Amino acid sequence: MKKLTLSLLAVSLLSACSQTSQLNHNASLIIKNGQVLTMNDNKDIIEQGVVVVKGDQIIAIGTKALLKQYSASKVIDAEDGIVMPGMINTHNHLPMIAFRGLGEEGIANRLFAYFFPLEKEKLSRDLIYQATRLGTLDLAQSGVTTYADMYYHMDEMAKATKEIGLRAVLGETVIKFPVVDAKEPHGGIEYAKQFIREYKNDPLITPAFAPHAVYTVAEDKLQEINTLSKQLDVPVLIHVSEFGNEAERIQDNTDKLSPVAWLNKIGVLNDRMVLAHSIHLTKEDIALVKQSGAGIAYNPMANAKGATGIAPAWEMYQQDIPMGLGTDGPMSSNQVDLWRTLSYAANMQRLKHDDRTIMIPEQVIELATIGGAKALHMDDEIGSLETGKKADIIIVETDSANMRPNYNPYATLVYQANPSNVDTTIVNGKVVMENRQMKTVNVKSINQEIDKIESDIQDFAKELAKDAIKSPSLMK
Ligand SMILES: [Zn+2]
Repeated sequence: MKKLTLSLLAVSLLSACSQTSQLNHNASLIIKNGQVLTMNDNKDIIEQGVVVVKGDQIIAIGTKALLKQYSASKVIDAEDGIVMPGMINTHNHLPMIAFRGLGEEGIANRLFAYFFPLEKEKLSRDLIYQATRLGTLDLAQSGVTTYADMYYHMDEMAKATKEIGLRAVLGETVIKFPVVDAKEPHGGIEYAKQFIREYKNDPLITPAFAPHAVYTVAEDKLQEINTLSKQLDVPVLIHVSEFGNEAERIQDNTDKLSPVAWLNKIGVLNDRMVLAHSIHLTKEDIALVKQSGAGIAYNPMANAKGATGIAPAWEMYQQDIPMGLGTDGPMSSNQVDLWRTLSYAANMQRLKHDDRTIMIPEQVIELATIGGAKALHMDDEIGSLETGKKADIIIVETDSANMRPNYNPYATLVYQANPSNVDTTIVNGKVVMENRQMKTVNVKSINQEIDKIESDIQDFAKELAKDAIKSPSLMK
């Protein structure tokens, strides 16, 4: 950590943008009086710092001397709170928030005996839209400004995400059985092509392909997706090595190659990919991932809850593999914000390695911000507070009892903070929440729609849980 006490940084940053540094230059938004965590390469922290925004971009960042250089129609006083890049949740299935809290009776084969039958019966285009409204509200209120998601009817998710004003990488799911938005096996490919055409140049939405996993998508379909993703220049999100037995479940994998080695062999492992979970990786797998440039979504809280294992995150961090944090879907971790995941990210690695010196809070916040941006291949635009980057900024108050004292802001964030400490959320230069008041959506109307969904689902869901416990191998 490097604290700046003089205005040296401000001088150098200002000279870097000298064309715009004349007196009283107009900006659209100024944040002042913040403890600014830049998350730049030096991890500079600016005390009583100022961030200046014009349109969707950060145009200056430095000490309070900047206040003499810029004026803006909107000035937010951070009141000594922590000003930091919006957090990035690199793996989610956000609409499953409609089912959050269900299937918690201890079901062994929860994915096939509970998740998939529940989705088969209850998913609809409208549920996905309404649930995304709730999910994005939860994200915005807890300081996540960008999320990556793998689900269905991604056009509905895009619509709800744009309404609230968050940024997202939305991957349309491709899977080998019929699903809510595709009657044919692997029908998601056609759906994705249409969705990508519609949203390719959107300022907030990055459309993507999301082949579900190595054991639920055919080899030739993974290759087709790879070719299309190259042509259309879009990311590919996939679950990899979440379970220890995936090698045996891959069709025609006669050599029993690991999922990573198999993806490499069939020619689809590359720097457009984001690999979710990546728990059961060998040293050789990690080397292949490093070589490929693929990103990693590390989901420590969901992995612990699902008892799927502890990912080699520390090993990958040390090798500088692009890696961010994810929650996985709201049935897997029940939280879409990253606050609890932050401490899991460190603590699981410390337990695994029997070493309390690794994954220090500064490194965890790195994963939650610029690391996530790198994993999603978006670090040119987001993940740190630097001149020229998109203005995705949050203010975390430090007045509440749980936030005091604040000797080391990274430790305060990782081990003390919770979602309600997020005071202000700004995405693409637009204020989405200020003083905990939502500026873009009507919270009451979102809750009313969720009430209807809850009463429609609950009886079916309870019966399904009983059946799933009786016959855990259902649909396997
Ligand atoms: Zn997942």
